[in-house]
Amino acid sequence: MDKKYFMDYLPEDLLEIGIKPKFRIKQLYNWIYKKYETNPDNMQNIPKELRKRLKEEFIINPLELVNHEIASDGTEKFLFKLNDNHTVETVLIKMKDERIDNGKRKEAKWTVCVSTQVGCKVGCSFCLTAKGGFIRNLRTAEIVAQVWFMKKFKNFNEAKALNVVYMGMGEPLDNYHNMVKAIKIISIEDGLSISSRRQTLSTSGIAPKIKKLGQENIGINLAISLHAVDDELREELIPMNKAYNIKSVIDAIKEFPIDRRKKVMFEYLVIKNKNDDLAAAKKLVKLLNGIPSKVNLIYFNPYPGSPYQRPDKETMEKFQKYLLDKGITCTIRESKGMDISAACGQLREKELKNG
Ligand code: SAH
Ligand code: SF4
Repeated sequence: MDKKYFMDYLPEDLLEIGIKPKFRIKQLYNWIYKKYETNPDNMQNIPKELRKRLKEEFIINPLELVNHEIASDGTEKFLFKLNDNHTVETVLIKMKDERIDNGKRKEAKWTVCVSTQVGCKVGCSFCLTAKGGFIRNLRTAEIVAQVWFMKKFKNFNEAKALNVVYMGMGEPLDNYHNMVKAIKIISIEDGLSISSRRQTLSTSGIAPKIKKLGQENIGINLAISLHAVDDELREELIPMNKAYNIKSVIDAIKEFPIDRRKKVMFEYLVIKNKNDDLAAAKKLVKLLNGIPSKVNLIYFNPYPGSPYQRPDKETMEKFQKYLLDKGITCTIRESKGMDISAACGQLREKELKNG
């Protein structure tokens, strides 16, 4: 019999397969998601029969850690082996160090960058993940477990504000069903308890799926990989732009429910002499008109054989200043964990080459 994956199941799905009553499910959630217990034998308040069923029928942790690197800026990168021997990576980014704020001690702040597929179908010309092609979707449990693993590994306490971004390997909206379920499971209070308002999904712009996600009304934050302001260049960078051009993506975003205090994040990968001039910045301002938005400028991070170059700091800052002057929130993202190549798919590539 094929094993079931515990982390695939919302509480109501567990009821459906005869794991009941509700308080029992709450206890199981507590063991697995709050105490990080994976051995049913240790779950003292669970009846023997159910423990036996868990052992026989379920896989609780679907990930095996096979590599872990820490960069000089505190970014950590994890490589996981899945049950079919494929690998995915997860990146843990230190956003703020431990600090004293108003005389009070504040904990460090972390964001976990989660993968959603093994490989990716979209085939962006600047992205290393794309080079390996598409292998398979991650199942819900494999997405949830990446977050679960980080909380367990770092011993994060319950109140710890860990943010989640779906910006690792893969296109999350191309794995729609598993993705939406994972967002819901991660947000359950009796479980990992990371509200959907602290989760951000990044998409390369599958317009109809953006609309559909909006209709789910689950409160997730949206990030759009825009990268270009005219269709010709966007098509070169993201071939899918042929099917869903810039206008169709913008139209879909305009229908997306956005929290009153929130904004849509636009990711703009800056490539030297391609999309880094002020004419592009000007077009960008026009494009975002009417959308509560913030722009994240990302330095293109070169890799051996990559077709593009990294822009210089001055160009980045000029671009940023133009947007700021127009009243648009705009940050510059240094690729975190450069020394361990923590951008998009680079660790896995390295492993594949070495082994
Ligand atoms: N597939 C989704 C999810 C994230 S992709 C999307 O495209 O939005 C991973 C992230 O890595 C994206 O933000 C992408 O812009 C970034 N990325 C990919 N290749 C990069 C490179 N060479 N340098 C810098 N960032 C890169
Ligand atoms: Fe896929 Fe995102 Fe990489 Fe494009 S940038 S190939 S959508 S993972």
